[in-house]
Amino acid sequence: MPSSASDLWTIARAGYSADLRWVEVAADLGLRPSRGRVDCVGALLGQRCREWPERRAGDPCVCRPLREEFGSINDHARRWIDAEGRPVLTLETYVPEGSRLDAFRAYCAAHGLTVETGERSPHLPGETLLLIVRPAQ
Ligand SMILES: [Zn+2]
Repeated sequence: MPSSASDLWTIARAGYSADLRWVEVAADLGLRPSRGRVDCVGALLGQRCREWPERRAGDPCVCRPLREEFGSINDHARRWIDAEGRPVLTLETYVPEGSRLDAFRAYCAAHGLTVETGERSPHLPGETLLLIVRPAQ
């Protein structure tokens, strides 16, 4: 059991201390948890997911490439609300190769979304990369 705040970041055990680490990082980033359940980038664009809870007929949802083209880049998704009340999606991927990350950034830019890289990734420090996805201003 971690005994201090620093242990939270040196004892890297997925699913064990991640929620506690997220308390720190969410405060740093000015985020509070959202009740939104779907890890769909469409939610950042004011859209309802077309694939959850089941895939609907017609055009694929904007989130489909996240699963089908970018591999596990949408691992460990969490939904948040920022200080201005805007939706935010965080992803923590096991560090992807640069080309996949570049493709993901291009995909987001094409859909009016920005991607920042967080300094610390609560899921598995040193192993996962924190991506913070927001609607462009
Ligand atoms: Zn979707």
